[in-house]
Amino acid sequence: MEKVLAGYVGRLAPSPTGALHLGNVRTFMIAYLRARSLGGKVILRIEDLDHPRDKPGAMKDAIEDLKWLGFDWDEEYIQSERKSLYREALAQLPVYPCVCTRRDVENAQSAPHAGEQLYYPGICRDRFAGWADAARYCEGGRIPCWRYRVDEGTKVTFNDVFVGEFSQDVSAVLGDFPVARDEGGAGYTLAVVVDDILMGVSEVIRGDDLLAATPVQLLIAEKILFWAKNKTLKDVKMPKYCHVPLVVGPDGRRLAKRHGDTRVASYKAAGVSPEEIIGRLAYTCGWCKEGDKVSLKELIDVFSLNTIPRTPWIMI
Ligand code: GLU
Repeated sequence: MEKVLAGYVGRLAPSPTGALHLGNVRTFMIAYLRARSLGGKVILRIEDLDHPRDKPGAMKDAIEDLKWLGFDWDEEYIQSERKSLYREALAQLPVYPCVCTRRDVENAQSAPHAGEQLYYPGICRDRFAGWADAARYCEGGRIPCWRYRVDEGTKVTFNDVFVGEFSQDVSAVLGDFPVARDEGGAGYTLAVVVDDILMGVSEVIRGDDLLAATPVQLLIAEKILFWAKNKTLKDVKMPKYCHVPLVVGPDGRRLAKRHGDTRVASYKAAGVSPEEIIGRLAYTCGWCKEGDKVSLKELIDVFSLNTIPRTPWIMI
């Protein structure tokens, strides 16, 4: 295990919704090497709150694949075992239950909004007395979600370590955004923030598909800081964010099954070595020559964020 110095804490946060593929590995490689090159700590956090998309066995397989590739970590957590923390954190937030379906929200759009993010105009604000009241209203096994009551004029600006300054007028672009789809708050948006803060993550490195999700995470983080300080009896801080370009297919879309089989397990079964996989990915980050076979450990000293191209790596 690498020497752990006080200070930098990074994390790998796989979701067990499918097998680990080259796209995930490239982002994890960057996060891992950044932490280790700074003498920092690495946390592995399994983000298994996405039922029913989570696949049985995927958690064990992801851990096995990561170890086979040469990753190691200092602490390991599983989100489904931390639900009581998300429940406590939820109580710190200005949230209300919402029963609107996606169609309701789409129908309420007054103007087209860019990207996939849907603007929510607050239809359920002040509509229900609480979760139970809202749940009674839902039919057919549907459950409400919790939405964050966003004040007029809420604009978030932050300085991303890789991308630079990023701003979002949350009240105009998203309106009251969803925080969790679970009465106790166990859902990606809240859980990711609670965990990054409680675990002392100093820098979040992840794919830039989550860049636009960061402003709402920062809003949540600010609201739970005081609670987190009392909980941990430590001086908790907001993490920095570093969003790196994704791996995409020749069609420019995020790497997926349609682009062929890039699962780590398939390369392993075909006799490809970890050093060939890491070498191929490291080449795309400017850390070695094309065709080099290298281990993660060998890359710790040559790692640099600066050589990573600013555009997605197109895997052909
Ligand atoms: N678990 C998420 C994913 O696999 C990553 C979340 C994050 O890094 O904030 O997409």
